[in-house]
Amino acid sequence: MDSDELTRFCEALSLCDEDGEVITIERRAKDAGVQKLKQCLFQSPAERKRVLTDGPWLFDRALLILTEPQGTGELSKLNFSIAPFWVQIHNIPIVCMTVETGEILGKRIGEVLEVDIGSTGTCLGNCIRVRILMDATKPLKRGIRAKLGGCNEVTQFVIFYERLPDFCFRCSYIRHLYRECPIPPTSGSPAGQDLKYSHLLKLPNSSVKPRDARR
Ligand SMILES: [Zn+2]
Repeated sequence: MDSDELTRFCEALSLCDEDGEVITIERRAKDAGVQKLKQCLFQSPAERKRVLTDGPWLFDRALLILTEPQGTGELSKLNFSIAPFWVQIHNIPIVCMTVETGEILGKRIGEVLEVDIGSTGTCLGNCIRVRILMDATKPLKRGIRAKLGGCNEVTQFVIFYERLPDFCFRCSYIRHLYRECPIPPTSGSPAGQDLKYSHLLKLPNSSVKPRDARR
């Protein structure tokens, strides 16, 4: 049973007195668990923090989502759908290469954690890199359309994701591959023509930084 199934199962379960009285688990039993949780998998608090914040992590090209237990760490209440990604936004006019633009565009993708200003303290370059907490249960966006202030012309900004796990080229969900896609192919279109997200794999002249490329 995966975490989603467990959450649905717990939500549907309404235990009552007929199922037995509410019992108390002794505090010392819980304290031992808290200690074990802190040490779990990691050799030091610094290593634990790095692993929890430096994602995304992949296993066999599948997204591996880690989450820090809150409260008592009840599995059905943990959120395993949010993961951090470095996202590159391309085709931004030079006059708009600013942190503010990165934040505005990044918010269209997820929760903005950081806009990369590099060692120069600016966003100048061929794209703006934004660190974003993304909901992995939603489809990947392939672009953003926007009008620049005082201008009626619509500009298309192209989105590329660094360290992208396997995903569906047809509907862009990370949760399945295109051969498992529940959406039927567009009738009449040549084979492969409806795979409109396959370009996301082709990160142009990757500007992945060494700290992100090491995984
Ligand atoms: Zn699909």
